[in-house]
Amino acid sequence: MKFENIPFNIPTVFEKDFKKNFSKLRKNNKYSSVGYFSNKCEKWLKKNINAKSALLTNSCTSALEMCALLLDLKKDDEIIMPSFTFVSTANAFVLRGAKPVFVDINNRDLNIDSNKIEKAITKKTKAIVVIHYAGISCDIKKIKSIAKKNKIFLIEDAAHSIFSYYEKKPLGSFGDLSTFSFHDTKNIHCGEGGALIINNKSLIEKSKIIRDKGTNRDKFLNNMVKKYTWVDIGSSYGLSEINACFLYSQLVHCERIIKERVRIFKKYYKIFSNYKNFQLPSICKKKKINGHIFYLIVKNNRKLFMDFLKKNGIQTTFHYVPLHNSKAGKRYTKGNNLKNTEKLAKLVVRFPIFYNKKYFRENYFNKINSLISIYLKKYK
Ligand SMILES: *Cc1c(COP(=O)(O)O)cnc(C)c1O
Repeated sequence: MKFENIPFNIPTVFEKDFKKNFSKLRKNNKYSSVGYFSNKCEKWLKKNINAKSALLTNSCTSALEMCALLLDLKKDDEIIMPSFTFVSTANAFVLRGAKPVFVDINNRDLNIDSNKIEKAITKKTKAIVVIHYAGISCDIKKIKSIAKKNKIFLIEDAAHSIFSYYEKKPLGSFGDLSTFSFHDTKNIHCGEGGALIINNKSLIEKSKIIRDKGTNRDKFLNNMVKKYTWVDIGSSYGLSEINACFLYSQLVHCERIIKERVRIFKKYYKIFSNYKNFQLPSICKKKKINGHIFYLIVKNNRKLFMDFLKKNGIQTTFHYVPLHNSKAGKRYTKGNNLKNTEKLAKLVVRFPIFYNKKYFRENYFNKINSLISIYLKKYK
């Protein structure tokens, strides 16, 4: 078969399952937040992430904002996190008047450097927020013990990390709170959506109130009060039943999606490990991956490499612009000595990876292999 140009991402749709579930949705005639499908999804998440409680939200961004509300932050409270992350990780806390304090990433897996966290803790520190970049766990066990020792909260922004593990424990099960994303760029999606995982029992009741506009509607739906009313601050963070119906049609295929993505990840890994010119993501037995992102660290001249691939039909991307260098980041955050962040963020290249029967066959990987040889001969 001829090699076809490959886009960076094609969102997966399980059309048959969605159609079947959609007729059920029509019968239920319930489209707004909290119903048959959201209950199904939440039960699934609770079980598979081994969580005390799981709430669907309309995005991971919303789930992060709920975290910030749950921590009851005061102005100038400090939240430790990496600068190499998506905007929402920091923005959610800035909205509540808190200050993100950035700690550098390590050179091996681009996750927050656990050796540098304690130095950044002050009397004002309320929480550590980690991400597991590319679905590869950060040093989560050690970071959990640092949080415990210093009596501060641990939050996992697990947007990349559904069905990844650290020492056989699912990511998202370590933090007091954890967040997932079901945006259509992620492994499992429903257009836009997310989840808040609550592992700290004392935060469960309040999280339901925050998700539902500051009301005790959850108690009403469970026949615990006669009518519901405004009891605290909150917002409208729930996921509609339409999205939950789509999401459930994906969750049931979770294992299949992840297996295929991991296969693709490993294929790339094997090809690129033949060349000294690229640094590969560091993976080890302790960390089971989910194939969310396959990335390389190039030695230099990322643009030249990406342009060459694009000319040859392979669409790659990069991210993140470190938050401390962004316009808002300069205004609202602090952190210094972010040497690895500055250096590595300029050298990351991400390759296509998605669940789709048409792409990622032998001819694709052969093409990648030969292109790399050509590139290195030409530009070395
Ligand atoms: C995608 C992503 C988010 C935001 O997810 P949404 O569901 O789009 O709000 C937050 N954090 C990280 C690390 C992400 O990759």
